[in-house]
Amino acid sequence: MMDKKRDVLILGAGLSAISTAYFLQDKPEIGSITLLEKEDRPGGLCRSIRKDGYTYDIGPHILFSKDKEMLELMLSVLDEGRNDLVRSNQILYKGRRIQYPFENDLSKLPEAELQYCINAFNNNPYEDYDVTNMIQFFLKTFGEGITNTYLRPYNEKIWKYDPAFMNTSMVERIPKPTSEEIRRSAAGETIQGYLHQLYFSFPSQGGIQAVPDGFLRRLKGEKCRVVCGAEVTRVEKAGERWRVLAGGETYEADQLISTIPVQALTGAWAGTTPELQAHVDRLRYNSIIISFVRLPYDLCGENFAFMIPDKNVLFHRISKMDFLGEAYHRAPEEATYMVEVTYRKNDQVDRLTDGEFRDRIRQGLVDIGFAKAKEDAEFIDITKYQYAYVIYDLEHTQNMAYIRKHYSDRGIVLNGRFGNFEYWNMDKILRESFELSKRL
Ligand SMILES: Cc1cc2nc3c(=O)[nH]c(=O)nc-3n(C[C@H](O)[C@H](O)[C@H](O)COP(=O)(O)OP(=O)(O)OC[C@H]3O[C@@H](n4cnc5c(N)ncnc54)[C@H](O)[C@@H]3O)c2cc1C
Repeated sequence: MMDKKRDVLILGAGLSAISTAYFLQDKPEIGSITLLEKEDRPGGLCRSIRKDGYTYDIGPHILFSKDKEMLELMLSVLDEGRNDLVRSNQILYKGRRIQYPFENDLSKLPEAELQYCINAFNNNPYEDYDVTNMIQFFLKTFGEGITNTYLRPYNEKIWKYDPAFMNTSMVERIPKPTSEEIRRSAAGETIQGYLHQLYFSFPSQGGIQAVPDGFLRRLKGEKCRVVCGAEVTRVEKAGERWRVLAGGETYEADQLISTIPVQALTGAWAGTTPELQAHVDRLRYNSIIISFVRLPYDLCGENFAFMIPDKNVLFHRISKMDFLGEAYHRAPEEATYMVEVTYRKNDQVDRLTDGEFRDRIRQGLVDIGFAKAKEDAEFIDITKYQYAYVIYDLEHTQNMAYIRKHYSDRGIVLNGRFGNFEYWNMDKILRESFELSKRL
């Protein structure tokens, strides 16, 4: 007897959907794989934008990983090559440049802050406590000085959330600096830290979009298809099969995998209950505004990203696209920047008018010394992206446990950064898609 081949529907066409299709396509029992994407092109957060001769990303994306197998795979799909680069990131603090990571370059701080950081690290009353939230982790690991000078203000700024209300999922992987390293850094030595991201790669053409594009080129046309402009608005069971309404068309399949934000899935799912909806409504996330800005001169130097803990400056990070290679640099005398501002619906940032927002960015550029005058900054683009960062608030684990169980009991597989609601980078996305393809 011949087994019937199974048709698969994947909701979304970001990197997790594309890589899931890539890993599944060689399974003989799979008949067809269809990806349904609401935007007019695939790639999700890994899309690159082309405008006025520039190519840039939705915030700085770099290719690095401790997972060598997945890193190799990502790099292998870059058919137009890659640039291998060395991190050159800094923290801007009271007009000074501190090399990232902060605790490894303490001697660049003003004397008072330097003494505060080193003394609090050497005499740390929090050292022996168990930690249950992000701020406790910072205090235990780095001491009060480094926490209050940099980690607390920067994290409050990027998360727009008090770190005391965030769990330790994000931070447990941060390496603990040794007393020896901190002492040397306070004494004047700049020490390299977070070595797993010291060296990274970037596509030599096309921006980070070259990664999803590389996987898309490797999808087999006879089995896989990507439908764009297909926003999923209804998901239901029809007998043994799944039925999905997207972009006015109906699709059916035996297996359903969702990589769209779990909020969008729950809005479309015919089986949504009030309890499920309540858990989904309590998930916290940040949105982001990416401005792409050109200045006619370069006051930044040969660096990539700058972290800015100062709360008077609207943006938390600014990155020079030009650093990533020839293809991203248009004129040698100018500099182009991706400027990142996180926000949540209806907060102070979201309520700024377009004019106010532009003015705050221009003022910030002057304040950090990248612009001589506000008028020098030319906005090439300003775009809002709703789903950018998962916030690991104190209820994240229990909310997601409920949501995952609801969907897995009904046979809907969740995958992806917002599909699964985890802070996953591209390497982890590939790993999860690979493991999923083995399980299915
Ligand atoms: C600012 C920033 C910087 C980052 N930097 C790095 C980095 O340096 N290195 C790194 O490895 N990773 C980085 N990442 C993470 C990386 O972007 C993600 O891991 C990856 O893109 C997630 O892919 P995904 O497919 O899970 O999600 P997404 O890319 O969000 O894909 C979801 C897709 O679903 C679609 N969709 C949504 N709703 C619907 C609907 N109703 N119907 C149909 N389709 C829908 C969306 O349009 C989207 O295409 C960064 C992320 C951000 C935000």
